[in-house]
Amino acid sequence: MMQCGLVGLPNVGKSTLFNALTESSLAQAENYPFCTIDPNVACVCVPDIRLSSLANAAQSKEIISSQIQFVDIAGLVKGASEGEGLGNQFLAHIRQVDVIVHVVRAFSDEGITHVHGSIDPLLDIDVIETELLLSDLQSAERQLSKKHKGGDNRETTKALLERGVRYLQNGIPLHTVSWSSEEYYQLSKLGFLTAKPVIYLINISEKDMLNNTVPYQKKILERTHGRPVVWMSTKIEAEVVQLSLEDRILFLKDLNIHCTGLERIIREVYDAMGLISFFTVGPKETRAWTVKKHAKAPEAAGCIHSDFERGFIRAEVIFWEDYVTYKGELGAKSAGRMSTEGKDYIVRDGDVILFRFNV
Ligand code: GDP
Repeated sequence: MMQCGLVGLPNVGKSTLFNALTESSLAQAENYPFCTIDPNVACVCVPDIRLSSLANAAQSKEIISSQIQFVDIAGLVKGASEGEGLGNQFLAHIRQVDVIVHVVRAFSDEGITHVHGSIDPLLDIDVIETELLLSDLQSAERQLSKKHKGGDNRETTKALLERGVRYLQNGIPLHTVSWSSEEYYQLSKLGFLTAKPVIYLINISEKDMLNNTVPYQKKILERTHGRPVVWMSTKIEAEVVQLSLEDRILFLKDLNIHCTGLERIIREVYDAMGLISFFTVGPKETRAWTVKKHAKAPEAAGCIHSDFERGFIRAEVIFWEDYVTYKGELGAKSAGRMSTEGKDYIVRDGDVILFRFNV
């Protein structure tokens, strides 16, 4: 399952956000017995409004969402790369995750200490990114100094590490550099923290959220160079998840907010990771699956079971809107909205797919 790490300085709102995420998944845990929650890891259902429309059309007994894990990686402080505050342990946790959600404090509250004395989101971003960068630099230099024993890729890896070191020495995080997909794959295997996709989550005050103001917008957008940024109030998120589903909708409508913070984060995570969803629909269950953008039909079949991929014959595909409009498979089929696709078919976000395969 994909893992997102919540990273940031102390007292920026990571735990508040993590608890809101955990609450939102606990509310659904009844339907997801396999959803184990440990103090620092929460499995969260990926919200997708298409699921209930599809389940309605197919009269499915059950809805099964995709899931994402969020990990609260608390305790990163200035000096972490030198081992400060158990720094290396936290950095090792970050190495495990697929995407980093960098929580940055933009709310002021006299009662809650800021580790550097004042609210300065740009400085917070710099402090954390410097630690990740220094950790990568140490790791690259360590790997370069090792005597490489054989291996076909020795020279390529060495050249890649040397290039990485040059960027890192100039303060450039590796995910901001354009690498070929092969290079990027190699860098990820080498465990570089700054090569991971990052989403910046700017934690603003309830007042700013209610007034629809976006503090530090210009400066933050300049600093983050087009990478995804989400402004939200983790405190409001924590309140929203305490409400029943009906009250939640009313509450958000009152605040003129169209979707919850969780929905916005997950959308950015899917975008940053280049992921899409497809569905399998039937009387037993309506289920969402996650695949990489541009995945072909057999790869999508493989998400369900490796036998489906191996024995793939064809895919019968209905776009989700057609499935809903024509009230199910039969209706869509008689309206000419079902296509039969072969192994080169590229799956679209929102496809309802029935795989035919040999066992
Ligand atoms: P962490 O150290 O990053 O995990 O931060 P916490 O989530 O524990 O938050 C630290 C303190 O800030 C707690 O007392 C939270 O209630 C408070 N806090 C978190 N988010 C907000 C916010 O949006 N507004 C205000 N006023 N306080 C917040």
